[in-house]
Amino acid sequence: MEKLLNELSSPRRAGVSLPELDVPPAEPLPLGFLREELSLPEVSQVDVVRHFVRLSQQNFAVDTVFYPLGSCTMKHNPKVNEEAAKMPGFMQVHPYQPEATVQGALRLIFELQEYLAEITGLDATSVQPAAGAHGELAGMLMVRAYHRSRGEGHRVRVLAPDSAHGTNPSSAAMSGYQVTVIGHDQQGNVDLAQLREAMGPDVAALMLTNPSTLGLFETHVEEICRVVHEGGGLVYGDGANMNALLGWAKPGELGFDVMHLNLHKTFSTPHGGGGPGGGPVCCRDFLAPFLPGPVAALRDGGGDTLKKPPFSIGRMRSFYGNFLVLVRAYAYIRSLGPDGLREVAENAVLNANYLQHRLKEAFDLPYTRHCMHETVLSASRQKEQGVRAWDIAKRLIDYGFYPPTVYFPLIVQEAMMVEPTETESKETLDAFAEAMLAIAREAVEDPDMVRGAPHTTRIGRLDEAAAARKPKLCWG
Ligand SMILES: *Cc1c(COP(=O)(O)O)cnc(C)c1O
Repeated sequence: MEKLLNELSSPRRAGVSLPELDVPPAEPLPLGFLREELSLPEVSQVDVVRHFVRLSQQNFAVDTVFYPLGSCTMKHNPKVNEEAAKMPGFMQVHPYQPEATVQGALRLIFELQEYLAEITGLDATSVQPAAGAHGELAGMLMVRAYHRSRGEGHRVRVLAPDSAHGTNPSSAAMSGYQVTVIGHDQQGNVDLAQLREAMGPDVAALMLTNPSTLGLFETHVEEICRVVHEGGGLVYGDGANMNALLGWAKPGELGFDVMHLNLHKTFSTPHGGGGPGGGPVCCRDFLAPFLPGPVAALRDGGGDTLKKPPFSIGRMRSFYGNFLVLVRAYAYIRSLGPDGLREVAENAVLNANYLQHRLKEAFDLPYTRHCMHETVLSASRQKEQGVRAWDIAKRLIDYGFYPPTVYFPLIVQEAMMVEPTETESKETLDAFAEAMLAIAREAVEDPDMVRGAPHTTRIGRLDEAAAARKPKLCWG
């Protein structure tokens, strides 16, 4: 077992040697700022390097292992995107530079806005929001501003299916709305009868994800949009699952009025440990005046400029959003082109169905129809053996895979939500399927061993809630 840094410590050992002082020494720090006892390890440079490189390798990343985290679209991030984002003309621009000197950057934003509008079948885009949930908040604030502008501030309710991502009701609530939950039918679709009943003159919008978080195409989507529109409501689309539809279906043509996209999912920009993301919001033309701004626009007489839409809900973020994330998404779209994007969705759906087919005997499959970009299995059979979805997820780590999403969506018992993405080969999918099938056998033959997993990591199970709420961020 590797030694910790403090175990390697030896008095007066140092990681750097400074040259002789050739300037007058500075005033020493005031005594009040100095500590007598500071128990830092005294170690060599190579010990420090090995320590941190080893720590970095104890983590899972999409660049090291298959990462089928459902609802997150953890696809490979093509390195050509990084090359584009590294170009000095993009990397070194400053948001306060005169407009004339950043024409290329503005043109990139403008073209990305247009591409995203084309892909979604909508009319206008703002790339300001920095994450999916941030885009949802922007979209719902636009819905509110739109209704108020028409003297319809009495619309105080938002409808959301029970399969919705938790961010949907949260975004509605943060925009000042009451949320009414709509149930699902036996096929996993929105329950139309419940929707009709819940619809009323006080409803501002329905928030809908298609494909749903069950990984299923909402077959009544046009009828759902019709019911909401007839009641004077708008339809918000959660576009986080757009990987399944690219080039095949346009949400604008299905009836959606406003939606967000996740650049860090569908458009292959890194998720990066909660780091910078992109959640552009796209909408129909009647909502465009409310978009968060500024947005990139063509200048009269040629060139590109920034404009604040006339009734803008305001800024969601400083400047233009995460600009280098936009560069990466732009590079992805341009390098694939329309046919390439179509193939992305085709292979994402094919890969998910392949895994669904290989795993459906060993695990329960609550909704048996073809899935879209992800499949939701259930460990309820294994639970009878005392092995839960949670245990299967931990055991997968021993097999060298990142675990799928578990216990979401909430409407499936012991849910295991597997999203392989289009970037994985058949060999990788087969290796994952074999591991899952082996774990299903282990659950019968040696359930205690599965419950004790992971066995190959430095530490076993963590208290994840405490780790998130009371993180220990200091050494020692
Ligand atoms: C990921 C996801 C979101 C939220 O996106 P963030 O970028 O994580 O804020 C919303 N809805 C669905 C369906 C998602 O999968």
